[in-house]
Amino acid sequence: MDRKRWYICGITALFIVFAGIIFYLNNTELPITNTLKGTEEFSAEIIAMDTYITMTAYGEYAESALTDAQEKIRKLEQLWSVTDERSDIYSINHGNGQAVEVSDETADLLAFALDMAAKTDGALEPTIYPVMTAWGFTAGQNRIPSEDELQYLLQNVDYKKVHLNGSEITLPVGMQLDFGAVGKGYAGDVVAALLKEEGVTSALLSLGGNIQAVGSKPDGTDWRLGLRDPFSEGLFGIVSVSDMAVVTSGNYERYFVGEDGVKYGHIIDPSTGYPAENGLASVSVIAAEGKLCDALATALFVMGLEKATDFWRQYQNFDMILVTEEAEIYLTEGIKERFSLDSSHSSVSVNVITDG
Ligand code: ADP
Ligand code: MG
Repeated sequence: MDRKRWYICGITALFIVFAGIIFYLNNTELPITNTLKGTEEFSAEIIAMDTYITMTAYGEYAESALTDAQEKIRKLEQLWSVTDERSDIYSINHGNGQAVEVSDETADLLAFALDMAAKTDGALEPTIYPVMTAWGFTAGQNRIPSEDELQYLLQNVDYKKVHLNGSEITLPVGMQLDFGAVGKGYAGDVVAALLKEEGVTSALLSLGGNIQAVGSKPDGTDWRLGLRDPFSEGLFGIVSVSDMAVVTSGNYERYFVGEDGVKYGHIIDPSTGYPAENGLASVSVIAAEGKLCDALATALFVMGLEKATDFWRQYQNFDMILVTEEAEIYLTEGIKERFSLDSSHSSVSVNVITDG
Protein backbone atom coordinates (compact mmCIF):
# COMPACT_ATOMS: atom_id res chain seq x y z
CA MET A 1 0.00 0.00 0.00
CA ASP A 2 2.76 2.39 1.00
CA ARG A 3 4.74 1.47 -2.04
CA LYS A 4 1.80 2.16 -4.31
CA ARG A 5 1.23 5.60 -2.76
CA TRP A 6 4.89 6.50 -3.24
CA TYR A 7 4.67 5.31 -6.78
CA ILE A 8 1.70 7.63 -7.51
CA CYS A 9 3.39 10.52 -5.76
CA GLY A 10 6.56 9.96 -7.84
CA ILE A 11 4.68 9.94 -11.13
CA THR A 12 2.70 13.04 -10.14
CA ALA A 13 5.90 14.84 -9.20
CA LEU A 14 7.53 13.89 -12.49
CA PHE A 15 4.44 15.05 -14.37
CA ILE A 16 4.52 18.40 -12.60
CA VAL A 17 8.22 18.84 -13.38
CA PHE A 18 7.71 18.04 -17.11
CA ALA A 19 4.66 20.30 -17.30
CA GLY A 20 6.72 23.03 -15.69
CA ILE A 21 9.54 22.59 -18.20
CA ILE A 22 7.14 22.70 -21.16
CA PHE A 23 5.40 25.80 -19.73
CA TYR A 24 8.81 27.45 -19.21
CA LEU A 25 10.01 26.71 -22.76
CA ASN A 26 6.80 27.99 -24.30
CA ASN A 27 7.04 31.25 -22.45
CA THR A 28 10.73 31.95 -22.77
CA GLU A 29 12.34 33.58 -25.84
CA LEU A 30 14.93 31.64 -27.75
CA PRO A 31 18.56 32.33 -26.79
CA ILE A 32 19.05 35.96 -27.77
CA THR A 33 22.58 35.49 -29.13
CA ASN A 34 21.26 33.66 -32.19
CA THR A 35 18.91 36.38 -33.34
CA LEU A 36 21.54 38.98 -32.65
CA LYS A 37 24.20 37.08 -34.55
CA GLY A 38 21.85 36.70 -37.50
CA THR A 39 22.21 40.36 -38.35
CA GLU A 40 25.72 40.96 -37.13
CA GLU A 41 27.71 42.97 -39.68
CA PHE A 42 31.44 42.82 -40.29
CA SER A 43 33.49 44.85 -42.74
CA ALA A 44 37.02 44.64 -44.05
CA GLU A 45 39.01 47.03 -46.21
CA ILE A 46 42.13 46.18 -48.12
CA ILE A 47 44.19 47.82 -50.82
CA ALA A 48 45.23 45.17 -53.32
CA MET A 49 45.40 44.71 -57.10
CA ASP A 50 45.78 48.47 -57.46
CA THR A 51 42.33 49.05 -55.98
CA TYR A 52 40.50 49.85 -52.82
CA ILE A 53 38.57 46.75 -51.84
CA THR A 54 35.76 46.70 -49.28
CA MET A 55 33.89 43.63 -48.08
CA THR A 56 30.83 43.57 -45.83
CA ALA A 57 29.46 40.26 -44.60
CA TYR A 58 26.66 39.33 -42.24
CA GLY A 59 25.99 36.56 -39.74
CA GLU A 60 27.91 34.43 -37.31
CA TYR A 61 30.52 33.21 -39.81
CA ALA A 62 31.21 36.64 -41.28
CA GLU A 63 34.17 37.67 -39.17
CA SER A 64 36.36 34.62 -39.67
CA ALA A 65 35.35 34.31 -43.33
CA LEU A 66 36.43 37.90 -44.00
CA THR A 67 39.82 37.20 -42.44
CA ASP A 68 40.27 34.27 -44.82
CA ALA A 69 38.99 36.37 -47.73
CA GLN A 70 41.64 39.01 -47.12
CA GLU A 71 44.33 36.36 -47.06
CA LYS A 72 43.02 34.90 -50.33
CA ILE A 73 43.04 38.30 -52.05
CA ARG A 74 46.64 38.85 -50.97
CA LYS A 75 47.60 35.46 -52.43
CA LEU A 76 45.92 36.20 -55.76
CA GLU A 77 47.56 39.61 -55.88
CA GLN A 78 50.93 37.95 -55.38
CA LEU A 79 50.24 35.61 -58.29
CA TRP A 80 49.20 38.30 -60.75
CA SER A 81 51.28 41.33 -59.92
CA VAL A 82 53.14 42.53 -63.03
CA THR A 83 55.94 44.02 -60.95
CA ASP A 84 56.48 41.52 -58.11
CA GLU A 85 59.36 39.29 -59.19
CA ARG A 86 57.85 36.30 -57.39
CA SER A 87 54.53 36.48 -59.23
CA ASP A 88 53.34 34.04 -61.89
CA ILE A 89 52.77 36.91 -64.32
CA TYR A 90 56.31 38.21 -63.78
CA SER A 91 57.77 34.74 -64.43
CA ILE A 92 55.68 34.36 -67.58
CA ASN A 93 56.62 37.82 -68.85
CA HIS A 94 60.31 37.13 -68.25
CA GLY A 95 60.28 33.55 -69.54
CA ASN A 96 62.39 34.33 -72.65
CA GLY A 97 60.24 32.08 -74.78
CA GLN A 98 60.54 29.15 -72.37
CA ALA A 99 57.63 27.30 -70.76
CA VAL A 100 56.79 28.52 -67.26
CA GLU A 101 54.94 26.45 -64.67
CA VAL A 102 52.18 28.42 -62.92
CA SER A 103 49.55 27.92 -60.22
CA ASP A 104 46.15 26.42 -61.03
CA GLU A 105 44.43 29.78 -60.54
CA THR A 106 46.70 31.53 -63.03
CA ALA A 107 46.26 28.77 -65.63
CA ASP A 108 42.50 28.82 -65.07
CA LEU A 109 42.23 32.59 -65.45
CA LEU A 110 44.46 32.61 -68.51
CA ALA A 111 42.34 29.90 -70.15
CA PHE A 112 39.28 32.03 -69.49
CA ALA A 113 40.94 35.23 -70.76
CA LEU A 114 42.09 33.51 -73.97
CA ASP A 115 38.59 32.13 -74.53
CA MET A 116 37.05 35.58 -74.04
CA ALA A 117 39.69 37.13 -76.31
CA ALA A 118 38.62 34.71 -79.05
CA LYS A 119 34.89 35.30 -78.46
CA THR A 120 35.30 39.08 -78.51
CA ASP A 121 37.53 38.89 -81.59
CA GLY A 122 40.47 40.38 -79.70
CA ALA A 123 38.59 43.33 -78.12
CA LEU A 124 39.74 41.75 -74.88
CA GLU A 125 43.46 41.36 -75.44
CA PRO A 126 45.42 39.90 -72.48
CA THR A 127 48.74 40.74 -74.22
CA ILE A 128 48.12 44.50 -74.52
CA TYR A 129 50.54 45.30 -71.67
CA PRO A 130 53.49 46.69 -73.72
CA VAL A 131 51.09 49.21 -75.27
CA MET A 132 49.83 50.18 -71.80
CA THR A 133 53.45 50.76 -70.82
CA ALA A 134 54.08 52.93 -73.90
CA TRP A 135 51.20 55.18 -72.84
CA GLY A 136 52.80 55.38 -69.40
CA PHE A 137 49.81 53.86 -67.62
CA THR A 138 51.91 51.29 -65.82
CA ALA A 139 54.50 53.66 -64.36
CA GLY A 140 52.10 56.55 -63.84
CA GLN A 141 54.15 58.83 -66.14
CA ASN A 142 51.84 59.35 -69.05
CA ARG A 143 52.98 60.20 -72.56
CA ILE A 144 51.62 60.01 -76.09
CA PRO A 145 53.52 57.38 -78.09
CA SER A 146 54.12 57.91 -81.81
CA GLU A 147 52.13 56.01 -84.42
CA ASP A 148 55.33 54.13 -85.40
CA GLU A 149 56.02 53.10 -81.84
CA LEU A 150 52.46 51.77 -81.45
CA GLN A 151 52.60 49.84 -84.73
CA TYR A 152 55.92 48.33 -83.68
CA LEU A 153 54.55 47.28 -80.28
CA LEU A 154 51.34 45.88 -81.77
CA GLN A 155 53.42 43.27 -83.62
CA ASN A 156 53.84 41.62 -80.22
CA VAL A 157 50.20 41.89 -79.23
CA ASP A 158 48.31 38.73 -80.13
CA TYR A 159 46.54 36.42 -77.71
CA LYS A 160 46.67 33.63 -80.33
CA LYS A 161 50.42 33.30 -79.78
CA VAL A 162 50.04 32.51 -76.07
CA HIS A 163 50.53 28.81 -75.40
CA LEU A 164 48.76 27.24 -72.48
CA ASN A 165 49.39 23.57 -71.87
CA GLY A 166 47.94 22.37 -68.58
CA SER A 167 49.69 24.58 -66.07
CA GLU A 168 52.54 25.52 -68.43
CA ILE A 169 52.49 28.85 -70.20
CA THR A 170 54.79 29.91 -73.01
CA LEU A 171 54.96 33.43 -74.43
CA PRO A 172 56.98 34.48 -77.46
CA VAL A 173 59.89 36.79 -76.60
CA GLY A 174 58.70 40.40 -76.42
CA MET A 175 55.15 39.51 -75.49
CA GLN A 176 53.69 40.34 -72.07
CA LEU A 177 50.55 39.30 -70.22
CA ASP A 178 48.45 41.39 -67.86
CA PHE A 179 45.28 40.41 -65.99
CA GLY A 180 44.25 44.02 -65.33
CA ALA A 181 40.96 43.58 -67.19
CA VAL A 182 39.89 40.26 -65.64
CA GLY A 183 41.79 39.70 -62.37
CA LYS A 184 39.47 41.62 -60.06
CA GLY A 185 36.40 39.91 -61.50
CA TYR A 186 37.98 36.50 -61.00
CA ALA A 187 39.08 37.45 -57.47
CA GLY A 188 35.47 38.46 -56.73
CA ASP A 189 34.28 35.01 -57.79
CA VAL A 190 36.92 33.27 -55.68
CA VAL A 191 36.10 35.35 -52.59
CA ALA A 192 32.33 34.94 -53.05
CA ALA A 193 32.80 31.16 -53.24
CA LEU A 194 35.03 31.18 -50.16
CA LEU A 195 32.49 33.18 -48.12
CA LYS A 196 29.69 30.80 -49.14
CA GLU A 197 31.82 27.77 -48.27
CA GLU A 198 32.39 29.22 -44.82
CA GLY A 199 28.67 29.63 -44.24
CA VAL A 200 28.11 33.28 -45.19
CA THR A 201 24.80 33.76 -46.99
CA SER A 202 24.80 37.55 -47.23
CA ALA A 203 27.74 39.74 -48.24
CA LEU A 204 28.69 42.55 -50.58
CA LEU A 205 32.15 42.86 -52.13
CA SER A 206 33.42 45.93 -53.91
CA LEU A 207 36.68 45.68 -55.83
CA GLY A 208 37.05 49.07 -57.48
CA GLY A 209 34.31 49.17 -60.10
CA ASN A 210 33.51 45.51 -59.51
CA ILE A 211 30.59 44.68 -57.23
CA GLN A 212 29.90 41.12 -56.22
CA ALA A 213 26.73 40.35 -54.25
CA VAL A 214 26.67 37.15 -52.22
CA GLY A 215 23.03 36.19 -51.65
CA SER A 216 20.64 38.99 -50.83
CA LYS A 217 20.59 41.57 -48.07
CA PRO A 218 20.26 40.10 -44.54
CA ASP A 219 16.54 40.97 -44.61
CA GLY A 220 16.10 38.91 -47.78
CA THR A 221 15.59 41.81 -50.19
CA ASP A 222 17.80 42.62 -53.21
CA TRP A 223 20.93 44.72 -52.94
CA ARG A 224 20.41 48.16 -54.51
CA LEU A 225 23.62 49.09 -56.27
CA GLY A 226 24.39 52.56 -57.57
CA LEU A 227 25.87 53.02 -61.05
CA ARG A 228 28.38 55.86 -61.36
CA ASP A 229 27.53 58.69 -63.73
CA PRO A 230 30.55 58.88 -66.06
CA PHE A 231 30.02 62.65 -66.42
CA SER A 232 29.77 63.67 -62.77
CA GLU A 233 30.44 62.47 -59.25
CA GLY A 234 26.87 61.24 -58.74
CA LEU A 235 24.89 58.17 -59.82
CA PHE A 236 22.83 57.78 -62.98
CA GLY A 237 20.91 54.74 -61.89
CA ILE A 238 20.41 51.84 -59.55
CA VAL A 239 20.23 48.10 -60.19
CA SER A 240 18.58 45.71 -57.75
CA VAL A 241 20.20 42.28 -57.67
CA SER A 242 20.87 39.23 -55.53
CA ASP A 243 23.74 36.80 -55.98
CA MET A 244 25.13 38.64 -59.01
CA ALA A 245 28.19 40.54 -60.11
CA VAL A 246 27.93 44.06 -61.52
CA VAL A 247 31.09 45.34 -63.18
CA THR A 248 31.58 48.75 -64.75
CA SER A 249 34.33 49.85 -67.12
CA GLY A 250 34.92 53.28 -68.54
CA ASN A 251 37.64 55.72 -69.37
CA TYR A 252 36.40 58.33 -66.90
CA GLU A 253 38.33 57.12 -63.88
CA ARG A 254 41.83 56.27 -65.05
CA TYR A 255 42.91 58.65 -67.81
CA PHE A 256 45.27 61.53 -68.46
CA VAL A 257 45.01 64.74 -70.46
CA GLY A 258 47.83 64.99 -73.00
CA GLU A 259 49.77 68.10 -74.01
CA ASP A 260 47.37 68.26 -76.94
CA GLY A 261 44.48 68.72 -74.51
CA VAL A 262 42.95 65.35 -75.42
CA LYS A 263 41.75 62.89 -72.77
CA TYR A 264 43.43 59.47 -73.02
CA GLY A 265 41.84 56.59 -71.13
CA HIS A 266 43.34 53.34 -69.85
CA ILE A 267 41.27 50.92 -71.91
CA ILE A 268 43.11 50.34 -75.16
CA ASP A 269 41.55 49.41 -78.49
CA PRO A 270 43.91 46.57 -79.53
CA SER A 271 43.13 47.13 -83.20
CA THR A 272 44.72 50.62 -83.10
CA GLY A 273 46.88 50.80 -79.96
CA TYR A 274 45.00 53.98 -78.99
CA PRO A 275 42.62 54.38 -76.04
CA ALA A 276 39.20 53.06 -77.05
CA GLU A 277 36.97 55.82 -78.42
CA ASN A 278 33.91 54.14 -79.80
CA GLY A 279 31.18 56.42 -78.48
CA LEU A 280 30.71 54.83 -75.06
CA ALA A 281 31.31 56.54 -71.73
CA SER A 282 30.71 53.50 -69.56
CA VAL A 283 29.66 49.86 -69.72
CA SER A 284 28.14 47.91 -66.85
CA VAL A 285 27.76 44.16 -67.17
CA ILE A 286 25.49 42.10 -64.92
CA ALA A 287 25.85 38.31 -64.67
CA ALA A 288 26.40 35.60 -62.08
CA GLU A 289 30.15 35.38 -62.66
CA GLY A 290 32.39 38.32 -61.89
CA LYS A 291 35.09 37.19 -64.31
CA LEU A 292 32.63 37.19 -67.21
CA CYS A 293 31.37 40.64 -66.21
CA ASP A 294 34.89 42.03 -65.91
CA ALA A 295 36.10 40.63 -69.24
CA LEU A 296 32.98 41.83 -71.03
CA ALA A 297 32.84 45.30 -69.47
CA THR A 298 36.31 45.97 -70.91
CA ALA A 299 35.67 44.27 -74.26
CA LEU A 300 32.23 45.84 -74.88
CA PHE A 301 33.68 49.25 -74.04
CA VAL A 302 36.22 48.68 -76.81
CA MET A 303 33.51 47.47 -79.24
CA GLY A 304 31.11 50.40 -78.92
CA LEU A 305 27.30 50.35 -78.96
CA GLU A 306 26.65 48.58 -82.25
CA LYS A 307 29.11 45.73 -81.90
CA ALA A 308 28.25 45.32 -78.21
CA THR A 309 24.59 44.97 -79.19
CA ASP A 310 25.43 42.33 -81.81
CA PHE A 311 27.58 40.50 -79.28
CA TRP A 312 24.78 40.46 -76.70
CA ARG A 313 22.28 39.18 -79.27
CA GLN A 314 24.66 36.35 -80.10
CA TYR A 315 25.41 35.19 -76.53
CA GLN A 316 22.70 36.59 -74.21
CA ASN A 317 24.34 35.07 -71.14
CA PHE A 318 24.64 38.46 -69.46
CA ASP A 319 22.91 41.83 -69.22
CA MET A 320 24.48 45.20 -69.92
CA ILE A 321 23.82 48.87 -69.32
CA LEU A 322 25.66 51.20 -71.70
CA VAL A 323 26.04 54.97 -71.34
CA THR A 324 26.99 56.74 -74.57
CA GLU A 325 29.13 59.86 -74.88
CA GLU A 326 25.82 61.65 -75.60
CA ALA A 327 24.62 60.54 -72.16
CA GLU A 328 21.98 58.17 -73.52
CA ILE A 329 21.36 54.86 -71.81
CA TYR A 330 21.01 51.53 -73.60
CA LEU A 331 20.16 48.42 -71.60
CA THR A 332 19.26 44.83 -72.41
CA GLU A 333 15.70 43.66 -71.79
CA GLY A 334 16.69 41.22 -69.00
CA ILE A 335 17.79 44.02 -66.68
CA LYS A 336 15.01 46.50 -67.50
CA GLU A 337 12.82 45.64 -64.51
CA ARG A 338 15.78 45.72 -62.14
CA PHE A 339 17.03 49.12 -63.26
CA SER A 340 15.81 52.54 -62.21
CA LEU A 341 17.13 55.98 -63.06
CA ASP A 342 18.50 58.06 -60.24
CA SER A 343 16.21 61.01 -59.46
CA SER A 344 18.95 63.37 -60.71
CA HIS A 345 18.68 61.73 -64.17
CA SER A 346 14.93 61.27 -64.52
CA SER A 347 14.82 62.99 -67.94
CA VAL A 348 17.53 60.81 -69.55
CA SER A 349 16.33 58.57 -72.39
CA VAL A 350 16.55 54.84 -71.74
CA ASN A 351 16.61 52.56 -74.78
CA VAL A 352 15.90 48.86 -74.39
CA ILE A 353 17.93 46.41 -76.48
CA THR A 354 15.83 43.42 -77.43
CA ASP A 355 16.44 40.06 -79.03
CA GLY A 356 15.44 40.92 -82.57
P1 ADP B 1 39.51 48.66 -64.22
O1 ADP B 1 40.81 48.00 -64.00
O2 ADP B 1 39.53 50.13 -64.11
O3 ADP B 1 38.39 48.04 -63.46
P2 ADP B 1 39.09 47.22 -66.70
O4 ADP B 1 38.55 46.00 -66.09
O5 ADP B 1 38.35 47.70 -67.89
O6 ADP B 1 39.13 48.44 -65.73
O7 ADP B 1 40.59 46.88 -67.07
C1 ADP B 1 41.43 47.83 -67.61
C2 ADP B 1 42.85 47.34 -67.48
O8 ADP B 1 43.03 46.21 -68.32
C3 ADP B 1 43.87 48.34 -67.92
O9 ADP B 1 44.33 49.08 -66.84
C4 ADP B 1 44.94 47.45 -68.55
O10 ADP B 1 45.80 46.94 -67.55
C5 ADP B 1 44.17 46.36 -69.16
N1 ADP B 1 43.66 46.63 -70.52
C6 ADP B 1 43.49 47.80 -71.19
N2 ADP B 1 42.93 47.60 -72.40
C7 ADP B 1 42.70 46.26 -72.50
C8 ADP B 1 42.14 45.41 -73.49
N3 ADP B 1 41.65 45.89 -74.64
N4 ADP B 1 42.10 44.09 -73.22
C9 ADP B 1 42.56 43.58 -72.07
N5 ADP B 1 43.12 44.31 -71.10
C10 ADP B 1 43.17 45.64 -71.30
MG1 MG C 1 37.39 44.49 -67.03
